[in-house]
Amino acid sequence: MGTRVYVELWADDPAAGNADIDAVMASMRFVDELMSHYKPESQLSRINAHAAQGPVAVDPELFEVIRQSIHYSEITEGAFDITYASVGYLYDYRNHIRPSEAEIRAKLPGVNFRHLILDPATHSVRFAQPGMRIDLGGIAKGYSVDRGIDILRKRGIVNAIVTAGGDSRILGDRRGRPWVVGIRHPYDPNRVVTRIPLVDSAISTSGDYERFFDEDGVRYHHIIDPHTGHSASKVRSATILAPTAIETDGLSKTAFVLGPEKALQILERLPDVDAVFVTPDGRVLYSKGLQGGG
Ligand code: ADP
Ligand code: MG
Repeated sequence: MGTRVYVELWADDPAAGNADIDAVMASMRFVDELMSHYKPESQLSRINAHAAQGPVAVDPELFEVIRQSIHYSEITEGAFDITYASVGYLYDYRNHIRPSEAEIRAKLPGVNFRHLILDPATHSVRFAQPGMRIDLGGIAKGYSVDRGIDILRKRGIVNAIVTAGGDSRILGDRRGRPWVVGIRHPYDPNRVVTRIPLVDSAISTSGDYERFFDEDGVRYHHIIDPHTGHSASKVRSATILAPTAIETDGLSKTAFVLGPEKALQILERLPDVDAVFVTPDGRVLYSKGLQGGG
């Protein structure tokens, strides 16, 4: 997944605790083998290579993540869209490469989750348009964090945190007290915007400072507006709280694309979802559930 994974847990026996961590890491590697776009032999890469010619059958786990992705596209009015990659692959942040307007225009017709055709009977995926690509960088980490927590719970662990990239989930509390997760300030990695106490919850933060380059005063970063093919900059960072990490990951890109007001409208309709946004002018906005009392 090209990211750091962090697991912390309480176990009575150190050997058993290490075996629990190994089990989570094995699950992360399984997801990576299936869903990585860096690996040409992954099933995700097979979809990108062949799904425009005909249906590509995949493992149920990958099929489920794609199905969930479409669900998040539907509830975010298309802000979350794994077909963003039809344009997104033209960006190379490390080497400061971005597509021209003409290149974006040529590839943009491939960006639309409605062009993904899924067949649940055969677990197959087909592209309705040529030139399409998908990328799960915005949801696979949340999914794998949930898998990690499920594994730990089944192995009898009751206090743990699992993190992959910007996505974390907490099991239980921190031995009688909540876990306290700090949200870093988008301008300054050493400053926190706020600290949030959490028990049995997931939290994801997306930021324009994760993978980016600046050119002529414009920040080109890794969250792409599916409607324009440009970096989505209506907030600088977005944090989502919800019961599962696939939810928080699937929702953490919304405000970048739709703006904080519209995103709050959508998120506040969802049960058990809260949000913290940092706007381009440095304001910090909280959803209703985090206001007052906290
Ligand atoms: P991370 O958890 O790795 O810190 P995010 O959760 O913020 O990252 O997701 C950013 C990633 O999501 C990008 O690197 C890219 O792979 C993918 N992505 C970018 N734009 C979109 C979009 N509009 N919809 C879905 N996924 C996207
Ligand atoms: Mg994420």
